[in-house]
Amino acid sequence: MIFYSSEQKSPQAALEKAVFQAMPEDGGLYMPLSLPFIKEDLKGQSFQFVAKVLAKALFAEDLSEALIEEIVEEAFNFEALLRQLDEQIYVLELFHGPSLSFKDFGARFMAQLMAKMKKKGEKIHILVATSGDTGSAVGQGFLGLEDFFVHILYPSQKISNLQEQQIINIGQNVSAIEVKGSFDDCQALVKQAFNDKELRKELSLSSANSISVARLLPQTFYHAYLCTQLDKSPLLSVPCGNFGNLTAALFAKKMGFDIAHFVAAVNSNRVFVDYLQSGVFHAKPSIKTISNAMDVGNPSNFARMLDFYEKSVLAMRKEITAYSFDEQKTRQGIQELFTRYGIVVDPHGAIAYLGLQAYLLESAKKGRAFQGPAVFLQTADAAKFVDDVQGLVAQKIEIPKALQPNKEQKSLLMEADYSCLKDYLIRF
Ligand SMILES: *Cc1c(COP(=O)(O)O)cnc(C)c1O
Repeated sequence: MIFYSSEQKSPQAALEKAVFQAMPEDGGLYMPLSLPFIKEDLKGQSFQFVAKVLAKALFAEDLSEALIEEIVEEAFNFEALLRQLDEQIYVLELFHGPSLSFKDFGARFMAQLMAKMKKKGEKIHILVATSGDTGSAVGQGFLGLEDFFVHILYPSQKISNLQEQQIINIGQNVSAIEVKGSFDDCQALVKQAFNDKELRKELSLSSANSISVARLLPQTFYHAYLCTQLDKSPLLSVPCGNFGNLTAALFAKKMGFDIAHFVAAVNSNRVFVDYLQSGVFHAKPSIKTISNAMDVGNPSNFARMLDFYEKSVLAMRKEITAYSFDEQKTRQGIQELFTRYGIVVDPHGAIAYLGLQAYLLESAKKGRAFQGPAVFLQTADAAKFVDDVQGLVAQKIEIPKALQPNKEQKSLLMEADYSCLKDYLIRF
């Protein structure tokens, strides 16, 4: 597979470079030069089967079929579950992986891919700064993989207790580092390590950044799977933060999976809604909400979407409709899903549901009511957000083991000072 940079300045890169380097030198994002078109009839197949067909089509030039099958089998030891809620509405549950969020699909595939592509015996250190879900998904992805060492940096007292517990609980080759500072401090430390030539002579560093194509491409698998389970082209509502999930959905459509229309559902961080309206993009500082994995004021995959639509806002508007929902609406969404269908969703899933309803209503008002199946994605387990969700539903939310306190595991407390991180890594 060949990739080009969305900035068009860096040379094209092969899969190996795109996977281990994550970002081109020109500061752009890697884009696939072409996407395979899947002609095979996959109706009613399992998620794993669909994932294998797509992975083989994508990576045929880079890896053997047997190796690709192994990667898929080891990465996806959990399901994407499509549930029908009424005649028209479906939810695709993407939170059944080990970290209880959809980020497991990308993170686990990336880890397996790197493990199969790296040189034998080479030890790789993965540094991640996290403000929530990414750290635990990446940690779980690399858990127990030989010659990989993951160091998760998180800001002290700035993530929820449950999120911290989840990172600390992983253990083995995954270390939790509690930084006395902000998320920005954590990110700056990671960046400094990557720019430190002396350190990089000592050890092999790799990023598990959310912009990595190794995390993005496997997300096409569940969008494709969704289409194989339905008889008609669906309307698809995606809860968006950095827009990786939606970008993968656009790729899936290009690969032959006919999604009728996309809804980009966001919280009060509404720069994308404003862009579709005005045609001008303005990044903004992020606003804190209960759907915190979507608190993004400058979505990193926006550059990929612009490139995909050749910078045409008109082309984008034809395929994507965007809606923003505030905290009160989000809570109403959670309540409505419980009273109407008896399901308990997380705040991100509730926003995707609200986006779906908004589009259905709007299309009906215009006299062009959407008739096909309408699907929203639930990206996290409600238990991860129990403090915000429990008061809204008349059903006790069970807390899974991964989120429960575990006295044996500890994090390492560190000053927000690069010499401390460097010292720690060199001694590791
Ligand atoms: C990361 C995340 C999102 C946002 O996904 P993007 O691909 O960044 O748009 C939505 N919901 C949950 C639960 C997440 O963890």
